[in-house]
Amino acid sequence: MSDQATLRLKAGRDRSLRRHHPWIMSGSVDRVGGNPQPGDTVLVVDDASRPLALASYSPHSSIRARVWTFDVDQSIDDQFIASRVSAAASRRRHLGIPNGDAVRLVFGEADGLPGLVVDRYGSIVVFQITTVGIDARRDAVVVALASLDGVECVYERSDGDNRSREGLESQTGIRHGSLPTDVWARENGLRFHVDVEHGHKTGFYIDQRDSRRLVEQHSRGRAVLNVFGYTGSFSVAAARGGASSITTIDSSGPALRIAEANGRANDVNIGELVEADAFTELRSLRDRRASFDVIVLDPPKLANNPNQVDRATRAYKDLNLLALKLLRPGGLLFTYSCSGAVSSDLFQKVVAGAAVDANREASIIERLGQPGDHPIPLHFPEADYLTGLMLETA
Ligand code: SAH
Repeated sequence: MSDQATLRLKAGRDRSLRRHHPWIMSGSVDRVGGNPQPGDTVLVVDDASRPLALASYSPHSSIRARVWTFDVDQSIDDQFIASRVSAAASRRRHLGIPNGDAVRLVFGEADGLPGLVVDRYGSIVVFQITTVGIDARRDAVVVALASLDGVECVYERSDGDNRSREGLESQTGIRHGSLPTDVWARENGLRFHVDVEHGHKTGFYIDQRDSRRLVEQHSRGRAVLNVFGYTGSFSVAAARGGASSITTIDSSGPALRIAEANGRANDVNIGELVEADAFTELRSLRDRRASFDVIVLDPPKLANNPNQVDRATRAYKDLNLLALKLLRPGGLLFTYSCSGAVSSDLFQKVVAGAAVDANREASIIERLGQPGDHPIPLHFPEADYLTGLMLETA
């Protein structure tokens, strides 16, 4: 590792960095000196050689370097990683997550740790690495996580598609302690089974905590349809809220089997589980003239990058149109996009277009988004990925 390595920016390409945006795109780089290897720390300088930041070098990615710190006198070592991890953990203590223990402990750039995501489920922490900079410091990450209060197991789930962009292979497995057979996410007095080894992301969608509570509050005596239900977290919340009936649609059989177990674990009846493609099933419900009082529409990320936004908006429109048609008058639609490339504005426009085509009027009752353990730095708006609307139909 060479601390002497430098990355020099082209003239005028220091503007975003001076506003503390942490990414250096390949097109902004004038030259790289000192032969840094992937993950090495480089000193970023402007075209007049003035130092700007220390960043991790990523020669295979279009995000050529990611800033560790704007204090160029710092050392990027194990101690640096440990202090960032512990700062991330302690800022969450003030959030007061009600009656639960499932929390996003580290949210990448938002916690000054580009490429690292950590979710905590009680004494179990699950981490995911997506950049060479953090990958090269995996051992320090594990030590830092293992030393947090109450942590008994550290599990790695670095198997996302995005690793290949940085030239990284999949890495999964126990890194500290042992993994219990049953891992639970506890939230609002409910518990959800987390498939740490094979589930999506780190096994559970912690980011929908606030919305689950909202759905629970609006379910009493109502017929609820949960589309893209995964392990049934919204369905369990609706059941505890007193829904009169619940239907959960997901294309994944294993996810639905966990949903069933989650119903039992919480002593509620989560109703009907439908293993099907959501687009097809919504059409078939429409053709059968089914109707619901509350619909949750929480599809997977449909746009992975700006090039996929057009296609994604067509899919969002299609889904929302079908959902609006299935809603009874006065019904509620909780609709989401977790595609960072689709802005809240655009999403609202798409849903508005769907309402026009469905010939339904609807109003926004509440705007929804990611909770405080997924913070959005003002200088890094890319962290804003989850957008949602709670709509009421006329
Ligand atoms: N609402 C869930 C998370 C949804 S994740 C929660 O809060 O836990 C997206 C889900 O969509 C996954 O479970 C995935 O299996 C499912 N899925 C993806 N494509 C689908 C499709 N075409 N039809 C139905 N389900 C689909």
